[in-house]
Amino acid sequence: MADIRLEGVGHSYDGGRTWALKPMTWTWRGARAYALLGPSGCGKTTLLNIISGLLTPTVGRIWFDDREVTGVPTAGRNIAQVFQFPVLYEEMSVYDNLAFPLRNRKVPRQEIDRRVRQVSALLGLDEVLRRRSRRLDPGRQQIVSLGRGLVRPEVAAVLLDEPLTVVDPALKWTLRSKLKEIHRDTGHTLVYVTHDQTEALTFADEVVVLNDGAIVQTGEPAELFLSPAHEFVGHFIGSPGMNMLPAEVTGDIVRVGKSTAGAVKGDLPPGPVRIGVRPEFVRIAGERTSPGVPARVTGTDRMGAYDLVHTRVGEHQMIAKTEAGSSHEPGALAFLHFPAERTFLFRDQVRCGSL
Ligand code: ATP
Repeated sequence: MADIRLEGVGHSYDGGRTWALKPMTWTWRGARAYALLGPSGCGKTTLLNIISGLLTPTVGRIWFDDREVTGVPTAGRNIAQVFQFPVLYEEMSVYDNLAFPLRNRKVPRQEIDRRVRQVSALLGLDEVLRRRSRRLDPGRQQIVSLGRGLVRPEVAAVLLDEPLTVVDPALKWTLRSKLKEIHRDTGHTLVYVTHDQTEALTFADEVVVLNDGAIVQTGEPAELFLSPAHEFVGHFIGSPGMNMLPAEVTGDIVRVGKSTAGAVKGDLPPGPVRIGVRPEFVRIAGERTSPGVPARVTGTDRMGAYDLVHTRVGEHQMIAKTEAGSSHEPGALAFLHFPAERTFLFRDQVRCGSL
């Protein structure tokens, strides 16, 4: 496993007019499992292809530990890759497909057998080991591809590009936890590209959030959820995402219209801000609270395990996630309370303070 260091790495597909990946400096630390998370078109695949050597960056340099690999093709980088769709030798057995990357590197036969059986047991492939790959359904074939990517313990990095796309949704939960288990065992430097926050949050030691070709925030899953540094992270992570509400800082008070939303922590210059608070933390009361912001209930989604109570403050929708069976009638007046420590203030989309 290696530290993978990017120094001012950026990529443009149109001679520098637009940057699919804006020049960035960032290190993927050895033996950590990263999720690279962002919406479609934000540059995830471009970044992954630069690490793997499928793409040479327009600017910048890449290092695997002390070795510069900027111009080195994929074959010279000692990495394993798994793509969205299965890449297998269809006429070979599942066993031979799993063994192939090891045989290719002249690993002793006994060690090959041990590794193949270990990965096969973890991924639930034991009963199909002798079957030809083309006889498996696409989901199973993809699990074999995943196994091929994970079978070599000594690779510099394992790169996974949306590897569970074709896998049955019910199996995804199991596979993610298996993947975690295999990672604990092998200690690979692992980069897992996904646009699915659940996948990123359940799997990764650290999540790297990419938007519009730039890293917006990195951190442990809980940190991104509890303490978003940018409005984009607030929206993109969470279901539903963070509520945003225009407000005004005057002195050490944050006001929404004539109501007090709370006291500002620390010094913040007066002026407009946006309050960001997750539905999980908004408290909703039938009687006036102080601090508190009056709102009008517009409806309730009964989600089974919880309710989503929709309200409006002026033009702005605010959602509160409450216990199931809440009784907020549409049209009723309600008061929203924004708890300290869990409510943040944003200017130009960047966090500038909190309540
Ligand atoms: P997705 O999740 O949809 O695969 P992504 O986050 O992986 O998206 P990239 O595929 O890296 O994003 O694309 C980033 C930007 O670069 C997009 O605007 C895309 O249109 C553009 N792009 C990607 N590949 C090429 C290419 N070969 N030529 C020109 N533009 C490209």
